[in-house]
Amino acid sequence: MAAPQASGSARRRARNPANGVGSADKEQLGQWGRAWEVDWCSLIAVISLLCLAPFIVFYFVMACDQYQCSVTAPALDLYSGKTSLSEIWNRAPSFSWTAAKIYAIWVVFQVLLYICIPDVCHQVLPGYMGGVQDGARTPAGHVNRYEINGLQSWILTHTLWFANAYYFRWFSPTIIFDNWIPLLWCTNILGYAVSTFVFIKAYLFPTNSKDCKFTGNIFYDYMMGIEFNPRIGKWFDFKLFFNGRPGIIAWTLVNLSFAAKQQELYGQVTNSMILVNVLQAIYVLDFFWNEAWYLKTIDICHDHFGWYLGWGDCVWLPFLYTLQGLYLVYHPVQLSTANAVGVLLLGLVAYYIFRMTNHQKDLFRRTEGKCTIWGREPAYIQCSYSLVDGTKHRSKLMISGFWGVARHFNYTGDLLGSLSYCLACGFSHLLPYFYIIYMTILLVHRCVRDEHRCSSKYGKDWKRYTDAVPYRLVPGIF
Ligand code: NDP
Repeated sequence: MAAPQASGSARRRARNPANGVGSADKEQLGQWGRAWEVDWCSLIAVISLLCLAPFIVFYFVMACDQYQCSVTAPALDLYSGKTSLSEIWNRAPSFSWTAAKIYAIWVVFQVLLYICIPDVCHQVLPGYMGGVQDGARTPAGHVNRYEINGLQSWILTHTLWFANAYYFRWFSPTIIFDNWIPLLWCTNILGYAVSTFVFIKAYLFPTNSKDCKFTGNIFYDYMMGIEFNPRIGKWFDFKLFFNGRPGIIAWTLVNLSFAAKQQELYGQVTNSMILVNVLQAIYVLDFFWNEAWYLKTIDICHDHFGWYLGWGDCVWLPFLYTLQGLYLVYHPVQLSTANAVGVLLLGLVAYYIFRMTNHQKDLFRRTEGKCTIWGREPAYIQCSYSLVDGTKHRSKLMISGFWGVARHFNYTGDLLGSLSYCLACGFSHLLPYFYIIYMTILLVHRCVRDEHRCSSKYGKDWKRYTDAVPYRLVPGIF
C-alpha cells in the first residue's frame, strides 16, 4: 500500500493542532460536521455513551441468551437479588479462538474484496453507478475518489454463502448464531482497535490535516473523530469501508444464519422470519445499489471518523440491527396471513417513500433542477454558502415532491420501514421494538443536527426554506 498522503508541513501542523487551522478557518469549517469546542453537556453525553453503549449491546444479546429475550427479566433478577452482575457475566459465553478465526477471515475477506477487485457490476447492470466515483467536496475543498464495489462484494459474499449452505458445506449456516456472543467480543476488539488507530493517526499522519478537527478533549475527539476522511494509500477509505462492510454486508448474512437456526430448531422457518429477512435485505441491497449516492449523505460527507462510526459500524450495527431475527430464533412467531400481508405492505410502502424521497433529491441535485418531479419542473430556493478559502458557492433546496411534504420525509420512510420489522415479531416482548425506539432517537437527533448545520451553512436562505416547508418529519405534527 502507498504511504498516507500527508505532507511534512501537514504533519507538523497536525502534531500541533492549535496552529493547524486559524480562527477564520474554524468559523467556516465549524459549519460542517462535529463541533470545535465541547460544552459540559456534550462531554457528559460522550463519556456516558462511551461507557454505556458496549453494555447496552451486551445486555440485549445476553437477555436473549439467558432470559429468552426478556429485557426486563435480567433487571428484575438483579433488583431482587436473585442474581448478580458477576453471575450474569460469568454465564455469558466468553471470547473464543474459533470466533476470532471466523471474524478474522470475515474481515480480511471483506478487505480483499474492497481493495483488490475493481467493480465489474457497473459494466453489466444497467442503471447501477459503481466503479470510481467522486465524493462530496470536503470542508477544506477536497474531492475524494472512491472505488464503489459494495454491491459486487455483497453478491460475491452471498453467492459463497449459498454455495456453502447448499453444496460445499464447509461450515454450518448456523455458524453466526452459534458463535454470537464470542463474536461480540471479537467485533469489540476491532471496533476499539480501529477507533484508537484513527485517533493516533490523526496526530501522527493525517490524510488531510486541513479537514481535521481537534477540540483538545480526548474523549470527545476519540468518540466523534478528528480526521474527516482517514485513508491508507489511495483507496482504503476507513469511512466507506466500515460504513458499508463488514457491518452492512454482515447484516443479511446474520439474518440468514438466524433463519437457518430456526429451521434447525423447529423444522421450519416462520413467515415472520422470512419477512424480516426479505424487508431488511431490500434495505441492505438498496444501500449497496446506491453506494455512490451514499457518498453524498451525512455519514460520509459531514461526520468525522472516530469511535462513533468505527465502533458503531463494527458492533452496534450488526448486533442491534439484527435483534428481530435473533428474537425470532427464541420466539418463532407465525403471523396470520392478514398480519403478514399488512407487515409486508407497510414495509414496501415505507421503502417506496424512503427510496423515492432520496431519489428525488439526488435527481434534483445531479441535474441542478433540470428534471421533472411528480410530472413538473421542481420548485426550489436558491441559496449561497462559503468555503474555508472564502470562495462563494451556490446551491438549491428543493420544495417540490416529497421534499415539499416535509424537510426529511426520507427519515419518515426509514422509520416506517423500521416499524414494519418490529411488527413482524408480534407484541409479546419489548426487545424487538428496541430498533424503532433507537431509530426514532437517531433520526430525530440527526434531523435536528442536520438542520442546525444547514442553518449555519445557508443562513437566511435556510430560513426561507423552513418557511416554505414548515414540518420536519410528519406534516402537521413535527
Ligand atoms: P439526507 O439525505 O436527507 O441529506 C441531508 C442533506 O441534504 C442536507 O444536509 C442538505 O445538504 C441537503 N438537503 C436538505 N434539504 C434539501 C432539499 N430540500 N433539497 C436539496 N437538498 C437538500 O440525510 P442523510 O444523509 O442523513 O440520510 C440519507 C438516508 O440514509 C436517509 O434516507 C436516512 O433515512 C438513511 N439513514 C439510515 C441510517 C440507518 O442507520 N439505518 C442512518 C443514517 C441515515 P447540503 O449541504 O448539500 O445542502
